[in-house]
Amino acid sequence: MEVQYSSTRNSGKKITASQAILQGLSEDGGLFVPDHIPALSLSMRELADRNYQETAYEVMKLLLTDFTEEELKDCIARAYDSKFDTEEIAPLVEAEGAYYLELFHGATIAFKDMALSILPHLMITAAKKNHVDREIVILTATSGDTGKAALAGFAGVAGTKIIVFYPKNGVSPIQEKQMVTQKGDNTFVVGIHGNFDDAQTGVKQLFNDKELAGEMAACGLQFSSANSINIGRLVPQVVYYVYAYAKLLKEEKIADGEKINVVVPTGNFGNILAAFYAKNMGVPINKLICASNENKVLYDFFMTGEYDRNREFKLTSSPSMDILISSNLERMIYRIAGDDADQTGKLMKALSEQGVYHVTEEMKEGLSDFHGGFADEKETAERIRSLYEDTGYVLDTHTAVASAVYQKYAAETGDKTKTVIASTASPFKFTRSVMNAIDQKYDAMGDFELVDELSKIGNVKIPKAIEEIRTAPVLHDHVCDRTEMKAVVKQFLGME
Ligand SMILES: *Cc1c(COP(=O)(O)O)cnc(C)c1O
Repeated sequence: MEVQYSSTRNSGKKITASQAILQGLSEDGGLFVPDHIPALSLSMRELADRNYQETAYEVMKLLLTDFTEEELKDCIARAYDSKFDTEEIAPLVEAEGAYYLELFHGATIAFKDMALSILPHLMITAAKKNHVDREIVILTATSGDTGKAALAGFAGVAGTKIIVFYPKNGVSPIQEKQMVTQKGDNTFVVGIHGNFDDAQTGVKQLFNDKELAGEMAACGLQFSSANSINIGRLVPQVVYYVYAYAKLLKEEKIADGEKINVVVPTGNFGNILAAFYAKNMGVPINKLICASNENKVLYDFFMTGEYDRNREFKLTSSPSMDILISSNLERMIYRIAGDDADQTGKLMKALSEQGVYHVTEEMKEGLSDFHGGFADEKETAERIRSLYEDTGYVLDTHTAVASAVYQKYAAETGDKTKTVIASTASPFKFTRSVMNAIDQKYDAMGDFELVDELSKIGNVKIPKAIEEIRTAPVLHDHVCDRTEMKAVVKQFLGME
């Protein structure tokens, strides 16, 4: 049976994968979900002999069923090429008995590249398939990494424009520099006064603005989303969990069928949801360990069944996880509600109106694959230091949250299951926090001095993405209030 997609807030209407990718978010505010999760058609043994691109095809063809073999293979070839600095695309590195799945070897050295290097190609293909002749305007809110990865993916892609909003004081200096130096006439980067949730809420309002959509259509434009709510982001992320398992099997680190745990440093719940999909497609996964930083709304949710965003927002050293509204959780809610769109809609309404919702006991049972954990700033820094001192391997702050949570989990439960930790960013992206964690003395150094020092002590080459921004000129310096986002968008699109 071919997979089709429907909204988490209206299960009646079904659309194809390519339509879901084009639309991004459903008109009713819901997220598109596959009507069932297909099983892998090859065994793990067979997959063990496939490279990344071949694995990507085997996985994605099952979820993007209206793409032809030729279309999909073409998108994959364009995405996973020499933009990545290793042919493995997503290598596994063993340290202190855990396997770090390095998802940061793409153009912007964070895991967002895994999906955002292919999304523009999926979207252009989807537009052709659906005879869309309007120009696609990508509108995105970013907590730092999505923005640059989306800009890098869409820059210069004919038939597209991209607008990125980021919290002016909520991203790392390197992240900001990466974004504001972005080249390409079709790119536009704006800082907003506010945090990531403000940016994301503002973007959602623009997506749901019917009047704006009408005016854009009249100008031959239409919005689409590159945020992790787009199914075209989620599907490519399933691939590397399948790939990681197959590689562990190939290298005889695990036996065929042996279950593994997966730990994911989580913000918007996209990456860990992809792992959940991988499990449901047949990857032998035991626990999905959801690691949060001090913004531990998900940890509390897994503990109590109450999702409560009414709390202080904390700026941490892992800014891509500084999130109080994990958008992709809605897909999980829909599933544990038994694909009940009405109930999902009610809970999401409560979230937007009161900032809180509760799931029933029965729904909570549907979350038994997950374990929630969190690490505070001290534990995160301590993890970076101790792993570096014991092994020489340097983690970024996000991965360190996951690693610290894993240590606590293993100590609490005694679970000895082999474990893959999603390593979501290069330490070079968060150099200051990483180096300060290793030794406070580094705080006196400048940003790029720190980069050189990290390269020396960690014995790793400075990534191209960092070398490039050292001297690149700032091309974007717009800053606005949240209330001005609509005006800013219209101005950039030349609609005023
Ligand atoms: C985006 C991001 C995360 C969070 O991923 P989600 O899919 O939003 O849960 C974690 N780490 C890094 C480095 C990121 O860029």
